[in-house]
Amino acid sequence: MTELLSNYVAGRWQAGRGAGTPLFDPVLGTELARVDATGLDLAEAFGFARDAGGAALRSLTYRQRAGLLAAIVKVLQANRDSYYEIATANSGTVKNDSAVDIDGAIFTIGQYAKWGDALGDVRALRDGEAVKLGREPVFQSQHLQVPTRGVALFINAFNFPSWGLWEKAAPALLSGVPVIVKPATATAWLTQRMVRDVVEAGVLPAGALSVVCGSSAGLMDQLQSFDVVSFTGSADTGAVIRSHPAVAQRSVRVNIEADSLNSALLLPDAAAGSDAFNLLVREVVREMTVKTGQKCTAIRRILVPAALYDAAAEAIGAKLAGITVGNPRNESVRMGSLVSRAQLNAVREGLDALKTQAGVLHDGSARALVDADPAVAACIGPVLLGARDADAAERVHDIEVFGPVATLLPYRDLDHAIALAHRGQGSLVTSLYGADDAALGQAAVQLAASHGRVHVITPDVAQTHTGHGNVMPMSLHGGPGRAGGGAELGGLRALDFYHRRSAVQASPAVLAQLGLPQA
Ligand code: NAP
Repeated sequence: MTELLSNYVAGRWQAGRGAGTPLFDPVLGTELARVDATGLDLAEAFGFARDAGGAALRSLTYRQRAGLLAAIVKVLQANRDSYYEIATANSGTVKNDSAVDIDGAIFTIGQYAKWGDALGDVRALRDGEAVKLGREPVFQSQHLQVPTRGVALFINAFNFPSWGLWEKAAPALLSGVPVIVKPATATAWLTQRMVRDVVEAGVLPAGALSVVCGSSAGLMDQLQSFDVVSFTGSADTGAVIRSHPAVAQRSVRVNIEADSLNSALLLPDAAAGSDAFNLLVREVVREMTVKTGQKCTAIRRILVPAALYDAAAEAIGAKLAGITVGNPRNESVRMGSLVSRAQLNAVREGLDALKTQAGVLHDGSARALVDADPAVAACIGPVLLGARDADAAERVHDIEVFGPVATLLPYRDLDHAIALAHRGQGSLVTSLYGADDAALGQAAVQLAASHGRVHVITPDVAQTHTGHGNVMPMSLHGGPGRAGGGAELGGLRALDFYHRRSAVQASPAVLAQLGLPQA
């Protein structure tokens, strides 16, 4: 019997009462651990976090809470090697891909620690300047932001068990809001281990951080008016969260990061073999293969001038042919596995659906695996599809295949390309490739309305840009419409979600006593 991972709620480790759901190594097929949350007293768990954790965190200043984040960074750094081992075993990722999840998380917490320190020893934030309410400035309105007096519940996706926790927890804890995380079952081990290490290090006040591993049953029912819930996962589950009475009736604030049909767009003036063309090819291949395409930000649709369709297919296919797939423990392997056999089946089904409207330009799906048994491992090589009639291929703009799959689409002119990008119905990110700064700038503005992020790659930033799919804490993460309508990160703006905005109307003498940072 494998270890049953404990839940940490109400300030103590508690095992679920059931037999547990097994977690597997997606390459070897072996069982690694089990999770279970049945029988937990969730009312006690939420109450303890809300009351004990919330009060303790709110008694600290932003700078003191930034200190807690810096302490978390130290704990995670000290245990980093064990996180890589868990990621290899449970997520099937090669080292570079585990780094995106693990080191990406540590970097993000460290960044919030720095920003929080600069906020100083205050307990509320100034939101704009005081404005006079009458003819004379003797009675004024000052907006401020104060930490919400509730808990932050995170329901997370399987693909980022580390970063998915900490990119949310960093701004929440800095805001003074206690966190309860429910990781996706398939990869809950890494999240649970990180919480365990931080709890055991004793760096956070009791109730500040809790983890529930296993089913999400009953979690949403615990939410009260000042709590917030941040969900990352499929659009279908997102709809369930959004329609829960906690959200619909008790106004619990909700942030949803759902799926996204991100695009890459080569501008019309680029020639085959030009710097911009080569940069697009490189980025597409990277996005299709990093984390085996299981990134919410991965490029799914590749928009190129019609005249370059064949050249792009050939160049991308040639690079994909060199991608070795298999057991991430073998150093020659460039791309590990999907997270589970269930995901492998989902990718195959998605591919079948897309193939009804798109042809296969490069098929790595039956590629020989390195050190892995195709009957057991959740491995699949990259597949490049193509649809010569980009308008008619409706499914390509609608079905997110969460794996190493993208579709090449030709466009007539820039207006057509931008219209195709918008057909994702709201996406996390699009990337533009070209050398004409003016044309790129104008296209970026047009695409901004339907994209949380527009990543422009010109030859002069070839070595320095941060990557189409790489989510940096400085930039907004989230997208409108289909992407869920969420907004995470983007510097200190991320704190808004965990704060309540209020206008204090008073004399300047009273406003001076609010303890806000200097204007
Ligand atoms: P999922 O099936 O929707 O699951 C997400 C989370 O919701 C898991 O923790 C899951 O728990 C939980 N859950 C399932 N049913 C629930 C319910 N009825 N009520 C409350 N919680 C419930 O999604 P996934 O398959 O893990 O993740 C893949 C998707 O996430 C992809 O579509 C991807 O695009 C998206 N994603 C988006 C972002 C982003 O930032 N926009 C980032 C990463 C992934 P169990 O695991 O226990 O079922």
